[in-house]
Amino acid sequence: MNSMLIVMKFGGTSVGSAERIMQAGQLAVDTAAKGHQVVVVTSAMSKVTDVLIGAARLASTGQWDPALRQELFERHKAVADAIVGNDAARHEAVLDVLRQRLDRFEKLCYGLSMVHELTPRLLDAISGTGEMLSAPLVAAAIASLGRASQAVDATEVIVATGQYGGAEPLMDETRAKAAALLRPMIALGEIPVVTGFIAATTDGVLTTLGRGGSDYSASIVGAALDADEVWIWTDVDGVMTANPSEVPGARTLSEISYSEASELAYYGAKVLHYKTILPAFRQRIPVRILNSFNPGHPGTRVTVEGHPSAQGVKAVTSIRGVILVAISGTGMQGIPGIVAKTFDVVAAQQANVLMISQASSENNICFVLSAAEAPRVVAALRTALELELMRGHIEEITAEQQVAIVAAVGDRMRGAPGIAATVFSALGAAGVNVIAISQGSSERNISLVVTEHDAADAVRAIHGAFQLDQTS
Ligand code: ADP
Ligand code: ASP
Ligand code: MG
Repeated sequence: MNSMLIVMKFGGTSVGSAERIMQAGQLAVDTAAKGHQVVVVTSAMSKVTDVLIGAARLASTGQWDPALRQELFERHKAVADAIVGNDAARHEAVLDVLRQRLDRFEKLCYGLSMVHELTPRLLDAISGTGEMLSAPLVAAAIASLGRASQAVDATEVIVATGQYGGAEPLMDETRAKAAALLRPMIALGEIPVVTGFIAATTDGVLTTLGRGGSDYSASIVGAALDADEVWIWTDVDGVMTANPSEVPGARTLSEISYSEASELAYYGAKVLHYKTILPAFRQRIPVRILNSFNPGHPGTRVTVEGHPSAQGVKAVTSIRGVILVAISGTGMQGIPGIVAKTFDVVAAQQANVLMISQASSENNICFVLSAAEAPRVVAALRTALELELMRGHIEEITAEQQVAIVAAVGDRMRGAPGIAATVFSALGAAGVNVIAISQGSSERNISLVVTEHDAADAVRAIHGAFQLDQTS
């Protein structure tokens, strides 16, 4: 095999304990021993980000519990004890870093408990601490296995916009920083361990890329370094035909296309953050999804062609906890501009529409938003469409909670007849009521709105109808 530059990302469970961190380190070192250059991107240890966010929310109500800091310290110290406990100097150096980072965390929470105002910027500053704690441990594990390694804060590498909680990389700036900081380390044969999830604005303020964003960090770093491959190490054998915790017969897909991967991730396959694919796709960098608990498994390869599949549908996904907004009224027919006005409001609220469906009778437009965004969009719609409501052109604007989107995805659904019929007869047979339907014009996806209660049955019914549990 030719020597490659590989960016490897380890998710929370893959660095969830001392044993897992040693295993992650071993995977990086083994790959480097084969003659490859390796850059690691790490998540926080499993659940740590949730704890940090919980601490921030608690502090914003005026309470600060010092025991939280201690718990976080103990959990990370236990890892340091296990991996470098026999090397006093290295052990003390790692503990020092942990203490500094927890000091910063504690000060932020303490300040917050005084001012009671949790801004998105402050939430990022606090929630990004987890990766700053795990990266030094992963680097220490790699060093203990005999490869030089350094933890690197992504605030020194990824330059991003100031949209706190969902920052976007500025690739030219990121490229320059990655070249200046990471290239010299790689050239020396070292393995840099970059914190996932976090970035910094052009002014140096910490931002995050959004929950689950370490996958995105890996593809950003991969693109910035012109890497040959990006490997996402997680806790399942790759991207599967459905969420394996929901569908016991789900199978690993050996190869999928960039578009299938983005579509699956966008419609709820948590195994990949939905933005991960774009930076890799632009440069045609292959992405692999691998299981750190089962490293011998070949996992999933994301490539340009994907893998031709006879059946058309490759996988079924779901997103829970979304809100269906419906605007309806018999008087909407023939009144121009209601649709345009509606989506102007949505755009002005910077809300992300997950799915749109309009009945051909024009009596109803409905679309799906995240639970976080729906309330402000609905309020803005009621104001913007006040006149139409008053005149009775629109009868009502409703927001239905507790719905889910279920999507069937596959590049080769296009032109394959009978797919929709199979989906609907499977749902009918399973007694699932479909609330709304949409098929993208790309024909890569059929998505449906069902109640949250029906979501798992719907996923299983579609999975079964296309026999996705059997190898094609
Ligand atoms: P990590 O911590 O490694 O980033 P995540 O928990 O974010 O891991 O993502 C992996 C999880 O995604 C799996 O454990 C699985 O429960 C879930 N998942 C949902 N849909 C799929 C799918 N289609 N294929 C594989 N895993 C999926
Ligand atoms: N630690 C972050 C989170 O839990 C990012 C990630 O793990 O991808 O959301
Ligand atoms: Mg993840």
